[in-house]
Amino acid sequence: MPAPPARDHFDYAIVGMGIGGLTLGALLAQADKRVIIFEQHEVPGGYGHTFRAGRFSFCAELHYVWDCGRGERVYRMLKKLGLETQVTFHQLDPAGFDRIVGPGVDYAIGCGFQRELDRLGQLFPQHAEGLEKYYRIIDTIHRQMYQLPIGFDGRTIFGHPQQFSHIIRYLRWTLEDLFDQLGFPPPLRLILAGQSAIFWLPPRDLSLVVHAAGVGSYNQGAYYPRQSFMHVMKSLLRHIKKHPGCRSLLATEVTGMEVRDGRLRSLVTAAGQRYTADQFLFDGDAQLTLDLIGPQHFPAAFRRKLQYDYGTSVVSVYLGLRDYDLRRAGFGEQNIFWHPKVNLNEVYDDQLADRIPPSPFFFCNAPTLRPHDPHLAPPGGHQLVMVAPCSYQLFRRLREASDKEYQAAKQEFANRIIQIVESRFAPGLSDHIEVKVVGSPLTNEFYVRAPKGNCYSTPLDPQHVNLRRLNYQSPFPNLYYVGASSCLPGFATIIHFACLLYEKLTGDQVD
Ligand SMILES: Cc1cc2nc3c(=O)[nH]c(=O)nc-3n(C[C@H](O)[C@H](O)[C@H](O)COP(=O)(O)OP(=O)(O)OC[C@H]3O[C@@H](n4cnc5c(N)ncnc54)[C@H](O)[C@@H]3O)c2cc1C
Repeated sequence: MPAPPARDHFDYAIVGMGIGGLTLGALLAQADKRVIIFEQHEVPGGYGHTFRAGRFSFCAELHYVWDCGRGERVYRMLKKLGLETQVTFHQLDPAGFDRIVGPGVDYAIGCGFQRELDRLGQLFPQHAEGLEKYYRIIDTIHRQMYQLPIGFDGRTIFGHPQQFSHIIRYLRWTLEDLFDQLGFPPPLRLILAGQSAIFWLPPRDLSLVVHAAGVGSYNQGAYYPRQSFMHVMKSLLRHIKKHPGCRSLLATEVTGMEVRDGRLRSLVTAAGQRYTADQFLFDGDAQLTLDLIGPQHFPAAFRRKLQYDYGTSVVSVYLGLRDYDLRRAGFGEQNIFWHPKVNLNEVYDDQLADRIPPSPFFFCNAPTLRPHDPHLAPPGGHQLVMVAPCSYQLFRRLREASDKEYQAAKQEFANRIIQIVESRFAPGLSDHIEVKVVGSPLTNEFYVRAPKGNCYSTPLDPQHVNLRRLNYQSPFPNLYYVGASSCLPGFATIIHFACLLYEKLTGDQVD
């Protein structure tokens, strides 16, 4: 069948309105490029989108972010767009924004490595020296990660052995390798690994450089947008739309991308409309481009590069509460990480088995106890959000067996978490639940096209975070990958790499 005629021609066509696509779209529109951006969901934001349930609005999967202070990367990007006074961030309590709770452990992690070193040194005096070494290594890896240029490879790193000394040395290490070397006892491991448990891997598997990047970044400040994540996403989208010659299409799935003479020429939507552009940016999972373009157009070596594994998925529980005083129950701005056992490796073995874990590990926070948009909850109402890693296979198998079994499993998983919250932190909570929404890995697959419901594209272990990892480059000279699968995940990390890609594409500087 001949291709339908193109509706319009653009400088850049962007697939996906995650934070990566929106950041690049806004920067390119500001640089007077004609941009068109597509999103298959009805709302922008990808994992950072917001959905309505009853009288509540929940942000899907962004909980707290880094690098948003004045002068830091996110602020500088917003300043370039003239949005820095419109989109602002509140710094979560620097004295303790992550609370790690488990058997015999209840510890609040705050900002400043020296402060943490002093506090932990008092709790574990026989490990004071080891802790000093630990923080020195984490701090150095974190600083060196930020010096990496976009599209770095072995030559970049080994060509500058001093500048990247710690990345060279520790790239193949897991967090547990470092714990073992320093001889840390289980409760100290739980505290230090507890915070990076949000990468959904135990110390045995988690890449040390990923741990250092996350912990090192939050150590300088953990933030939450003053008017919620929807405001951030919508502000970027509005910025694109207001520029002449730019367009945005929500609820528009891109179903094909056409290659001719080695270059991408056009893309086609589910409704059969065709759009042409000079350059293309893809913000969804990079592996999806194999099907959209056709695997035969990719060199075999690149096809292999795209065949990465997917990392852990989650069950998410969103509660809308009526007449419940979360503050009186001891909640505040903090995130709570609840661990049923001290040994995080065992916790994950239980959690990722093909069954609902008897006593799940989870991460929890109350967005309405942070500065927020009034739409998040009705007056006097509150939100409590819980996230727990889980087996994708479990939910896929149950869904294929019957919808009833699948729905029942989601509810049972959620109820086990709610029972723990109620018994440990929030007595009487169940009587105040007005809205309860439970998302599974299949929910993520459906709403943000995350294959296998993956949270962070690949697993964040040394087998996947290394010099062979995919970057922004595709085998086509005018297709670039943005977003988690082509750099590392996280709101601020993706904005950082989107800024570097913008600079590379245009020659213009963000700062
Ligand atoms: C449970 C969980 C908790 C997290 N917590 C945090 C946190 O607290 N802090 C933090 O910084 N990060 C967190 N993250 C990570 C963060 O949410 C993601 O790394 C980031 O939002 C991903 O952005 P992205 O640009 O890669 O695109 P995504 O958010 O993945 O969006 C890609 C978009 O592309 C669209 N798309 C794909 N294919 C097509 C197509 N063919 N046509 C049209 N549209 C298409 C999708 O619908 C989607 O909207 C969390 C992630 C998860 C899952």
